[in-house]
Amino acid sequence: MLTVKEILEQRLFSKENLVTLLGAKGTDGLLILKKGGEVKLQQVGNNVYFRGLIELSNVCEKDCLYCGIRKSNEAVTRYNLTDEEVLEAARFAYREKYGSIVIQSGEVTNEIFVARIERLIKEIKALSNNQLGITLSLGEQTEEVYRRWYDAGAHRYLLRIESSNPELYRKLHPDDGHHLYQQRLNALRAVQRTGYQTGTGIMIGTPWQTLEDLADDLLFFKDFDVDMLGMGPYIEHDETPFKNVEAELLPLPERFNLSLKMVAILRMMMPDINIAATTALQAIDPLGREKAVKAGANIIMPNITPGKYRNNYLLYNNKPCTDEEPEQCAGCLDARLALADGEIGYGEWGDSKHFKKKERFNA
Ligand code: SAM
Ligand code: SF4
Repeated sequence: MLTVKEILEQRLFSKENLVTLLGAKGTDGLLILKKGGEVKLQQVGNNVYFRGLIELSNVCEKDCLYCGIRKSNEAVTRYNLTDEEVLEAARFAYREKYGSIVIQSGEVTNEIFVARIERLIKEIKALSNNQLGITLSLGEQTEEVYRRWYDAGAHRYLLRIESSNPELYRKLHPDDGHHLYQQRLNALRAVQRTGYQTGTGIMIGTPWQTLEDLADDLLFFKDFDVDMLGMGPYIEHDETPFKNVEAELLPLPERFNLSLKMVAILRMMMPDINIAATTALQAIDPLGREKAVKAGANIIMPNITPGKYRNNYLLYNNKPCTDEEPEQCAGCLDARLALADGEIGYGEWGDSKHFKKKERFNA
């Protein structure tokens, strides 16, 4: 079997290599993070791009077993931002030169919701002189809906596959006919066909997940030719059915380290994509996102949802920054990123270089 050092010298990684890298500990583990950071600097530079995250609503038609805002959680106070609150958050992002926003929400598929998003996208484009980039993370929709939102002006879409192993996907979701792996995959394909910069991802350290699963996930991302990736540790939420399977889980620090290794390895496998340093990392380690930036991530999503709603968008325990207003988030990130040798790419869209190359190739 090859050593970690020998594997890192290769250009391509087999599944067996990936499992070895993911299992590396101590100095071998640090070597992986270091290489991920070096590849990032060579390929996409030290710029970190901000996407102002607007958590539009916690109303959800789905019941994912891991998620705190799943429809069956009756302890959640449901909310919907008003249109004016969404537009004000977008104005804030524009003023602060964030370059882009992400609109994220529980999954809702009715026409009122679809038309509302379409209208909001157009209004955000208008208020920002067409300058703000818009990423959507609104779950599984029909191809026609993806097209309507794309035509309105959104240009990136995030839909995590959650696991590329259909069997594991099945265990993470209720068996109610509304949570089908094939449906999720088809939706992701529809996003890509529509022309969005396509983002996907997974949670790391879910119950029953193995290193082989994670290796397959990495190969899936490459094979799918994604442009953007968002992955972070799975973190328990006390009001979900998974509360009772805690015994199956890796300790949080291990989930954290595994997440950093996933970022670093993916950066080596897909050097020119955008990789997010996700908020869930910060829930485990206060400097979690900055550590991910050092290991290969180049996107951060500061939360710009009005503070009064944040306590109701709790996907997992200890979600950070729930008592802050957008202004506070921005200030603290600036200083911390400097520690991670990252420089904020203010006023730029920070599109995936990978997507741009594909566009040029297909032109
Ligand atoms: N509803 C949309 C969807 O599921 O695609 C978008 C919003 S959803 C809250 C965004 C992501 O949150 C999910 O894709 C999932 O990976 C992540 N998430 C949910 N529960 C989580 C948990 N307990 N720990 C970590 N991440 C979680
Ligand atoms: Fe709804 Fe998304 Fe949470 Fe699943 S992960 S319950 S779709 S908000």
